[in-house]
Amino acid sequence: MSKAIIIGGGVIGLFSAYYLKKSGWDVDVLDKGDLTDNCSYGNAGYISPSHFVPLASPGMVGQGIRWMFNNKSPFYVKPALNPDLISWGLKFARNCTQKHVDRSAGGLRDAMVLSNQLYHQFEKDSGIDFCLEDKGIFVLFKTEKVAEHERHLVAKATKLGLDAQFLTAEETRAMQPGIEMDILGSVLYRCDSHIYPNMLMKGLIKHLEQSGVKLRRNEEVTAISHENNKITGITAGGKEYTGDAYLLAGGSWSPAIAKLAGLKLPLMPGKGYSFMIHKPVKKMTIPAILAEARVAITPMNGSIRFGGTMEVRKINKEVSMNRVEGIVEAVPKYFPEFKMPLPDPKDVWFGFRPVSPDGLPYIGLSNKYKNLGIATGHAMIGLTMATATGKLMAESFNGDKPTMDTGIFSVDRFD
Ligand SMILES: Cc1cc2nc3c(=O)[nH]c(=O)nc-3n(C[C@H](O)[C@H](O)[C@H](O)COP(=O)(O)OP(=O)(O)OC[C@H]3O[C@@H](n4cnc5c(N)ncnc54)[C@H](O)[C@@H]3O)c2cc1C
Repeated sequence: MSKAIIIGGGVIGLFSAYYLKKSGWDVDVLDKGDLTDNCSYGNAGYISPSHFVPLASPGMVGQGIRWMFNNKSPFYVKPALNPDLISWGLKFARNCTQKHVDRSAGGLRDAMVLSNQLYHQFEKDSGIDFCLEDKGIFVLFKTEKVAEHERHLVAKATKLGLDAQFLTAEETRAMQPGIEMDILGSVLYRCDSHIYPNMLMKGLIKHLEQSGVKLRRNEEVTAISHENNKITGITAGGKEYTGDAYLLAGGSWSPAIAKLAGLKLPLMPGKGYSFMIHKPVKKMTIPAILAEARVAITPMNGSIRFGGTMEVRKINKEVSMNRVEGIVEAVPKYFPEFKMPLPDPKDVWFGFRPVSPDGLPYIGLSNKYKNLGIATGHAMIGLTMATATGKLMAESFNGDKPTMDTGIFSVDRFD
């Protein structure tokens, strides 16, 4: 039996383990933590093919600069004389074009639609309950400017074959009865689903362990050996792990891990925050993105999760309560009944989205090492794309014909 060693036990590493195991591999997953928290736990839980516009898109640079002067803004790049950040920023700016958006849309749509189908298949095959619901996701807006932008997006989504519907404020209220909404209108992306990520991760970990995948907790990868264009071993927690194939799925830590093998992987952490309200004033059934405020709201098993912000800066443990306040203040502007106190910092979760400079993930085999795969850089769509990523990585390692064209996700595209 061939053996795969996966670095990183986030949702990307774990679904790669799932599909490799399913196709007959012996699998070890190495993680520096204890697999009870990483970016894959406190996220908004959206499985959202509607996110077919990559983060690097027209207007992002100007918007980002304007937001840099607002300490409650949803997007922030901390200026620093860090060569990696400067190089990442220049590449990001170069990719903020309509051409890039148009070139990426079809591939992103294919991967995300495939992923959504695979989540449903996984739920059926594994019997794990992770609150998968197909109620769609609202994008709520308050201004004409955003309404106009959303109208264009609905037309594009429809052209891509995604189910999206432009709704008036009245039509929106009728779909979420009993909740007051101060909005101009909405789009309902019926193509989207949502889950409770914490339940998914817990269930997936149990399922993998029961099926014989070895999850090695608190084993930080500190060295990678290679010879003649092949990875020959990995040192983690002072032990040596060897296999036939290796997968780098270390989320925002991936550039540091890649460096151990002499590889340069352009990627920056995009920190985001979330918190839960367990006894909400009103029961919500359909998730909602507050368009102008860039806040995500998700009902999860009777509770509600509120999340948002993207701070591009180096990995750190600080909780920027200003940005959390930005989320708390934005919510009642759309849902007047949801006036909430600022949560205690200890109840605020944060995670680091792995953000590539063109906003597209890296999925595939490295050109430099024949037996190394890379699966990271999913930014805001890592949960959405996890099942497809795992399946595509298993196909790559097995030498099978890929289910879809993965050209835009090439791992060497910035070399
Ligand atoms: C507020 C917020 C909301 C979001 N909402 C959504 C959403 O609704 N839908 C969506 O699709 N995505 C969403 N995302 C993005 C999504 O959460 C991420 O893209 C995804 O979790 C990334 O998964 P990952 O496996 O790549 O990384 P991670 O989950 O961060 O896992 C990486 C793992 O690698 C391990 N590791 C790192 N270095 C080493 C080392 N040296 N040795 C061993 N192990 C190591 C880490 O311990 C970690 O466990 C959101 C993110 C945030 C912050």
